[in-house]
Amino acid sequence: MTTTRFAPSPTGRLHVGNIRTALHNWLWARKTGGRFLLRIDDTDAERSEERFVEAIRADLAWLGLEPDAEVRQSARFALYQARFDALVAAGRIYPAYESAQELDLKRKVLLGRGLPPVYDRAALRLTAAERTALEAEGVRPHWRFRLDHDMPLAWDDLVRGPQSFDPATMSDPVVRRADGSWLYMLPSAIDDIDMGISHVVRGEDHVSNTALQLQMFQAMGATAPAFAHAALLTGAEGKLSKRLGSLGVDHFRATGIEPQAVRALLARIGTSDPVEPVAAMAPLLDGFDFARFGRAPARFDEAELAQVSARIVHQLPFDLVADRLPAGMDHAAWAAVRPNLERVADAADWWQVIEGPLAPADLAEEAEYCAQAAAVAEALDWSADPWHALTGALKASTGRKGKALFLPLRRALTGRDHGPDMAALLPLIGRERTVARLRAAG
Ligand code: GLU
Repeated sequence: MTTTRFAPSPTGRLHVGNIRTALHNWLWARKTGGRFLLRIDDTDAERSEERFVEAIRADLAWLGLEPDAEVRQSARFALYQARFDALVAAGRIYPAYESAQELDLKRKVLLGRGLPPVYDRAALRLTAAERTALEAEGVRPHWRFRLDHDMPLAWDDLVRGPQSFDPATMSDPVVRRADGSWLYMLPSAIDDIDMGISHVVRGEDHVSNTALQLQMFQAMGATAPAFAHAALLTGAEGKLSKRLGSLGVDHFRATGIEPQAVRALLARIGTSDPVEPVAAMAPLLDGFDFARFGRAPARFDEAELAQVSARIVHQLPFDLVADRLPAGMDHAAWAAVRPNLERVADAADWWQVIEGPLAPADLAEEAEYCAQAAAVAEALDWSADPWHALTGALKASTGRKGKALFLPLRRALTGRDHGPDMAALLPLIGRERTVARLRAAG
């Protein structure tokens, strides 16, 4: 059984990179008939805020990525403590007493000698008496996980292929601060084991964490999950962009982007498959496979998102948009204007065109033609296809065709040169308004 998790820290709003990670986790769970969990990584009480937890839930709901269950790390400290105690007892976690300044100095010395700034494990060489003396002075330790230098750090990443790191080139990671608070690494590994996570799907900024966490899984007697690290997002220019960090659901909603477009785009960028304006989830699920992801950064282009969104608007059924349309705008009106919209909100402009009042169009040179059209419209059988009946009659009586036949009518009836198919619009404008608008122009 597949179980994935999306594990944001509630220290801010989700941005497009987080949303992409959530989507990948969701797609993989749904495709394999598994479970998708939301894990709120709120071990950092100072930086975590309840309003961000709520925003994360709301954003996932808007995107259609609701989790099967939600867990919070802040409710699981007892479990972390138990695992921590066991790892301390087994000698895999040890206390370290260096201050931040001391560690900084050690790093600078190593870098100055052209060596990698790896922690020297001085704390491991302290005698019990030395530790007691430090604690008597009031120095409280932070805690490091002791890497096994003989155990290679290797895994077959579902996106990146075979990965390996030499543990001797890595510092023993700090897992707990001197004030007792948890850093991200250990609680995450504990939860991945405890929740039976089968696939850890996250961004490639976590690759070196994975190397370290592999030994944590092993030290806790667990088989590590499979890992998939997607390449990071870049802006349209191909560069890591600051703007991406501030683009999230609020921005998408404010600019009229549909959630289906966000999903369609983010499911495909960075893969070998083309982005397609699919509103349904099924085609995204069918094609989703980590093997189709490339190693190169995925380009996120807001202009492309807007285009995909417009093409999705053209497919949206009335039921999905009804609550965002102006009062009175019905099924037929939506069907008539939908092909011309970039955003659902723009339907209101066309509703105004249909309902009026319209400022009279300046059609002085076409006054006679419009007056003639008004007379034809008034006498027309309005029940079938009034637009073709109207233009057919005018074509026969005036000999006009093409633009000369249609454009003055469109201008008189809508005040614009372009827009939805007049055959769909005219029944909505109706006989009364049609005649009045043509007369006003005539
Ligand atoms: N809270 C971590 C983050 O947001 C989770 C990383 C993970 O998926 O393990 O980066």
